[in-house]
Amino acid sequence: MVRYVVIKGGAAAPALPATPALLEARQLSCAFRLRGEVVDAVRAVDLAISTGTCVLLRGPSGSGKTTLLNLLAGLQIPTGGSVHYRGRDLAGMSDAEITQLRRTSIGYVFQAFALVPALTAEENVDLPLRAAGTPTARARELVASALQRVGLAGRAGHRLHELSGGEQQRVALARAIAPEPEIILADEPTGELDQQTGRAVFSLLRHLAADIGVAVCITSHDVAAAEYADRVYAIRDGRVTAVEVVTA
Ligand code: ADP
Ligand code: MG
Repeated sequence: MVRYVVIKGGAAAPALPATPALLEARQLSCAFRLRGEVVDAVRAVDLAISTGTCVLLRGPSGSGKTTLLNLLAGLQIPTGGSVHYRGRDLAGMSDAEITQLRRTSIGYVFQAFALVPALTAEENVDLPLRAAGTPTARARELVASALQRVGLAGRAGHRLHELSGGEQQRVALARAIAPEPEIILADEPTGELDQQTGRAVFSLLRHLAADIGVAVCITSHDVAAAEYADRVYAIRDGRVTAVEVVTA
């Protein structure tokens, strides 16, 4: 894990951070073609996510948040612009390199969880660790620690159908944080949670950024989310319409 630098910009202008961003979008665009119609889901977005900071993408449903996060994770290929991880354009990486990046460096929390129904909570969290070849004893520690952090230590052996929607959402978060990634991209990670549990999740993500040095990017339309972010990008119709830099 990289030691972190907290960037709390003093400048009024929403300039990109002076330190190189871990993950950066430059004029990033994505258009979908659907039955002859073109949907511009993401339009010329510039953004930067640095180590030790928590970035919030805030916008109404349909504004392009999920598409943007998918592009940042290399799960979707842009139709314009580029995504850079540690200065390297994802477009120049092989599929194997991107897969490796996602296994080891990027923790992704899907809006729809994307968990495996037949497996237990701990087996779901363990899957990416197995894929990355983490030794069993170490994997066991990481799984237990991640489940504990999301408040599900007592649910490790439960199968998915034995968990509530909110618990499943936290399993998805535990799966993303267990491999100790450099960056966490979390798509509406509190969508299924009550207010109190939602705040606990934001607080955990904030802690991972501020104290452990992870780069965190959350999408949310929860008003509480902004309290935990260093930088808020307002998204409307696929565009960044404002950038708020939160100062201490
Ligand atoms: P959000 O996450 O902010 O709700 P999305 O990124 O899911 O927004 O969607 C942004 C826009 O792109 C919406 O208008 C949506 O209908 C459209 N869209 C998303 N995915 C696809 C797709 N695979 N094909 C066509 N249109 C899509
Ligand atoms: Mg979405």
